Amino acid sequence: MKNEDAYKLEKAKSCCCACGAGFAAGDIYISAIRTEADGLFKRKDFCRSCWAVTKNTFFSFWQSRHNCAGDEKAEELNAFFSLYRSLGSREDRQALELKYVLALYLSRKKTLRLTDIRNDGAREILVFEGPEDGEKTLIADPGLSDERTAELTDTIRALFPDEEQ
Ligand SMILES: [Zn+2]
Repeated sequence: MKNEDAYKLEKAKSCCCACGAGFAAGDIYISAIRTEADGLFKRKDFCRSCWAVTKNTFFSFWQSRHNCAGDEKAEELNAFFSLYRSLGSREDRQALELKYVLALYLSRKKTLRLTDIRNDGAREILVFEGPEDGEKTLIADPGLSDERTAELTDTIRALFPDEEQ
């Protein structure tokens, strides 16, 4: 498989991927991310009733309101944070790299605080603090090439197509 194919993601749709029902303004729907067997991250949007019977196969999900001005920015930021948290227990390279990029993004948005940069001899370790609990997370700089950073940025854009980045 070619490298760029690994990051193709489905764009968010304004209807439920299971029953096809369209979302009207103000409707609550659930967006969820899972890793497919081929290692791709995939986002799907569900209406609430379909979500109730599907949720266990996804590792990260959040709730949004369709086309509802105002809260949307905060919801997207929560979604970023929830994905970041969900990646926390994963050690595979793709998850570690995505987590690094998400952490930098979240610190630009002031959801996380970058409080320290250490060096363990081989690489830099970034220390991030959580928004409320002050919980520290250490993330090693994965040494991404510019090309790889661009790929990961595209991945995030595809997962969160409404967010300005
Ligand atoms: Zn549905």
